[in-house]
Amino acid sequence: MDDSYQVIVVGGGFAGVAAAKELGRKGVRVLLIDSNNYHQFQPLLYQVATSQIGVSAIARPLRSVFRRYKSVKVLTAKVSSVDTARKTVTTTDGRTLRGQILVLAVGAVPNFFNTPGAEEHAYPLYSVTDATKLGTGLTRLLDQADRNDGMVDVVVVGGGPTGVETAGAMAENVKYVVRKYFSPELASRCRVHLVDMVPSVLNAFSKKSQAYAAEHLGKVGVQLRMGVGVTEVRADGVSLADGTFIPAQIVVWAGGLKAGDLISGSGLAQGRGGRIDVRPDLTAPDVDGVYVLGDAANITDDAGNKLPQLGSVAQQAGKWAAHNIIADLNGGTRKPFHYVDKGYMAMVGRGAAVAELGRKRYQLQGTLAFLSWLLVHLALLSGIQQKVRALFSWLNGYILHSPAQVVVSGPVDRAMEDEDPARPDTPEKLPVGEQPGAGLPSAGQ
Ligand SMILES: Cc1cc2nc3c(=O)[nH]c(=O)nc-3n(C[C@H](O)[C@H](O)[C@H](O)COP(=O)(O)OP(=O)(O)OC[C@H]3O[C@@H](n4cnc5c(N)ncnc54)[C@H](O)[C@@H]3O)c2cc1C
Repeated sequence: MDDSYQVIVVGGGFAGVAAAKELGRKGVRVLLIDSNNYHQFQPLLYQVATSQIGVSAIARPLRSVFRRYKSVKVLTAKVSSVDTARKTVTTTDGRTLRGQILVLAVGAVPNFFNTPGAEEHAYPLYSVTDATKLGTGLTRLLDQADRNDGMVDVVVVGGGPTGVETAGAMAENVKYVVRKYFSPELASRCRVHLVDMVPSVLNAFSKKSQAYAAEHLGKVGVQLRMGVGVTEVRADGVSLADGTFIPAQIVVWAGGLKAGDLISGSGLAQGRGGRIDVRPDLTAPDVDGVYVLGDAANITDDAGNKLPQLGSVAQQAGKWAAHNIIADLNGGTRKPFHYVDKGYMAMVGRGAAVAELGRKRYQLQGTLAFLSWLLVHLALLSGIQQKVRALFSWLNGYILHSPAQVVVSGPVDRAMEDEDPARPDTPEKLPVGEQPGAGLPSAGQ
């Protein structure tokens, strides 16, 4: 057993990377373990699924992120279990590693809320793999419909930012790309539906932002079914609580998150969403030397209110936890987490977004919000190359309205897939940066 690490961080997402960077800056010996060899930027997954940007713009090799951090070692491995008392983690290839302190920053998994058929038939959108699978599914569907005059019905479940962004981007692809590169006739056979049990889109936003988003989605052709829950997902569509059925070949699940197996098997007491209710200093309760961060934790603000599962919360918590860990290692005192609330934003479509900035929720809608969204996401993206790629794609697609290219990431049907042994099964097998754009005809690659 290798126990030369002061800190083991499991998970190289927003929280894990922020923690490891801050620890690395202070020369703390860190082992960062992630099942992928790259850090993925989840807020732009929907743009990969709808071919607005390529994978290499949103995924950055973790070894590149930490190339200047001599005390941080990156290990690509999946952690299968954790022993919080002994401070060990065991990987699926049978290695057990021990640190003085453990940081669990493993994110979350889709929560299907026991909806029959959802796990089996719906596409989640939580990882690069999910995004490329969805993109490939959409491409196949369009090509099939082009060949056999069939319908293209997509249902997006969940009217939060992910669902709104995805539905908006898909509808705009129909409007601007399918119409031009397939035919107006095929575009007339494409429908995008957005369903949620709550009565309005973007539930956490102001009424004004909700109204703006609903109006824009309607304009680009998204069919809204708000205020009615999904009772079943089938291979041929979704059943709704009001007894209606929407036929669909593709169902996208943007309906919620919960903690994954590593957290549920950790022995730590689980709170809402299966997450760990961490103490104000971000440590797990009832055990020493274990921090739980980001989407795996229920983190509270100064007033004790639970913070949402956001990249900014994960990032700030990661940095804060690192300072507390340094205090632990040096015999200092941990401080309660203080969150700086910068607000939130959601993209609705080309030139259209909503933003509610700062604690006072200064509201922006339309072009200004859209430009703010682009700037904020550009700033948050990890890596210069990634930023340049994203900027180029956005300039090309959103600003210059330049002609799209048709990008197909995989064979259009199963038979062709079987005939192509060279094709990797999953996107992880390709080096990040060399992966093709997923799925739909692209407006920006
Ligand atoms: C589609 C989508 C859009 C979003 N949009 C926004 C947005 O616009 N703004 C915003 O602020 N937030 C947004 N979020 C939320 C934000 O992305 C998350 O809150 C944030 O990524 C959480 O960070 P994290 O470090 O906790 O987890 P993650 O970023 O999910 O990272 C977890 C890491 O742990 C690794 N891992 C998991 N299990 C294991 C294991 N067993 N062994 C080894 N490694 C493991 C994973 O590979 C992953 O790299 C969005 C989320 C999604 C899914």
